[in-house]
Amino acid sequence: MSTTSANTGKRTGYLTWDDYFMAVALLSAQRSKDPNTQVGACIVNPHKHIVGVGYNGFPTGCSDDTLPWCREGDFLDTKYPYVCHAELNAVLNSSLSSLSDCIIYTALFPCNECAKVIIQVGIREVVYLSDKYADSDSVRASRRMLDQAGVVCRRLAPASPMVTIRLKEEKA
Ligand SMILES: [Zn+2]
Repeated sequence: MSTTSANTGKRTGYLTWDDYFMAVALLSAQRSKDPNTQVGACIVNPHKHIVGVGYNGFPTGCSDDTLPWCREGDFLDTKYPYVCHAELNAVLNSSLSSLSDCIIYTALFPCNECAKVIIQVGIREVVYLSDKYADSDSVRASRRMLDQAGVVCRRLAPASPMVTIRLKEEKA
């Protein structure tokens, strides 16, 4: 529902920048074929322009229908050796060679492999929603590197609890 400011007529209740970029990350996650974990990421430059988005998936040309999405079994029969995480894809999908001073919005706190990529391309801030793997070695290593590299990590407190997107026109 839209309301407007009494003084200017400006619409109120619009998305904050943080919620907007996180929502773009979450929308990207909807493209993931992973049955267990759908993660999206959105990279934003200091001018608040989106410069890269990504979601977790297999490398280009590697079929979603032949590689496994399993989490258990022999290493080669799980998704782990093959999947590219959302943060990596967002960096690789960016048209920029340097992401200095950019912010990455990601649904889940980055793993140690993505932390390396985030640091190496010059991203200065990580904004995340969930930190459900905080106790894992991967996330511990990630935090250690991000802290040492001076990358700010901030858990988003969303201003809006939900963003609704309707694709089909409502009947009048
Ligand atoms: Zn990762």
